[in-house]
Amino acid sequence: MTRRVYLDHNASTPVHPEVMAEMLPYFTDLYGNPSSIHAFGRDAREGVDLARERIARFLKVSPQELVFTSGGTESDNFAVKGLAWARGRGHLITSRVEHHAVFRTCQALEGFGFEGTYVGVDGYGMLDPDEVRRAIRPDTVAISVMHANSEVGTIQPIGEIGRLARERKIPLHVDAVQTFGKIPIDVDALGIDLLSFSGHKIYGPKGIGGLYVRKGTKMVSIQHGGEHERRRRAGTENVPGIVGLGKAVEVRARDMRAEAERLTALRTRFWEGVRARVPEVRLSGHPTERLPGTASLLVRHVESESIVLGLDLKGIGVSAGSACTAGNVEPSHVLVAMGVPLDWAMGAVRCSLGRSTTAEDIDYVVACLEPIVKKLRQVLPVGAA
Ligand SMILES: *Cc1c(COP(=O)(O)O)cnc(C)c1O
Repeated sequence: MTRRVYLDHNASTPVHPEVMAEMLPYFTDLYGNPSSIHAFGRDAREGVDLARERIARFLKVSPQELVFTSGGTESDNFAVKGLAWARGRGHLITSRVEHHAVFRTCQALEGFGFEGTYVGVDGYGMLDPDEVRRAIRPDTVAISVMHANSEVGTIQPIGEIGRLARERKIPLHVDAVQTFGKIPIDVDALGIDLLSFSGHKIYGPKGIGGLYVRKGTKMVSIQHGGEHERRRRAGTENVPGIVGLGKAVEVRARDMRAEAERLTALRTRFWEGVRARVPEVRLSGHPTERLPGTASLLVRHVESESIVLGLDLKGIGVSAGSACTAGNVEPSHVLVAMGVPLDWAMGAVRCSLGRSTTAEDIDYVVACLEPIVKKLRQVLPVGAA
């Protein structure tokens, strides 16, 4: 059997065994509707309440400030649309490197009469808070900036942006899907009013996430129906998912710091190995302000997808940073915003490490990458002069 190495943890993660164990009874025995007043309903409600308390404790917020959603995408939509629609019209500020869940939501709102400013980034993928400040207008209704970039791992200066937002009394939404449960987040110190998170990026199940909404924030719902989630998000709760998310957060609170240290060391081992064996390769993103387990490579004059497929044949799962359509290489919007030249951006490959990653995995991937790149450059030196 070929070895299998999963280096795509920024895309999704396996459910932690402790999370799985806690969820199972909620499929079989504790199946009541949490809105029902009988014992079956109360049992389910208890599971939901405990999960909310665990997450609130982790974020040091009040349980009433948390809303469960179907995941990071819904949380982002809810945050941005909920803030915008509560004000009816006005101006939104976001960045050019956001996840599509924020980026395209802002674009969609432009179709409904809102105006958007998309702040650029430097070559490391980092925003300049001064540019955010210059983008603020009297009619700015919301600022939405991601905490860490899912593609290159750069961590944004949220604290400074939070201070600006607070001075002007503009609500700040932060997509923290890539940092929640990976690095510490202090919503008060950072000036965050709304925070999106997702279960399946932190060893919880897919299809569950949440949004922290600071008490007093003017918001409207984007999903109407019953009285669920204090009338902020209608729909019968995904009880097993919520229970799993709560447990996943509890496990992360316990393991997060040690794991971040371990992953940083493995990422360094990976990059040192790649750099020593593959010529013309760069690590994208910020040199220090970055996620522990994210290593995005720029391999010059090779196509991302060819590398991904080559590694796939070796049982390795990584993700491509550029797509090839009809013979044209299209780098991701993040790499374009960073101004990465096409001959480098075309070969963007994101490797994201996680709980199961070992030093042997890293060495195996490095050993596989070297001949793959060499061969691709021999037979297909794309874009080479
Ligand atoms: C994965 C991700 C999302 C979307 O979360 P889902 O739960 O998959 O919908 C949003 N933002 C970032 C930064 C992500 O990495």
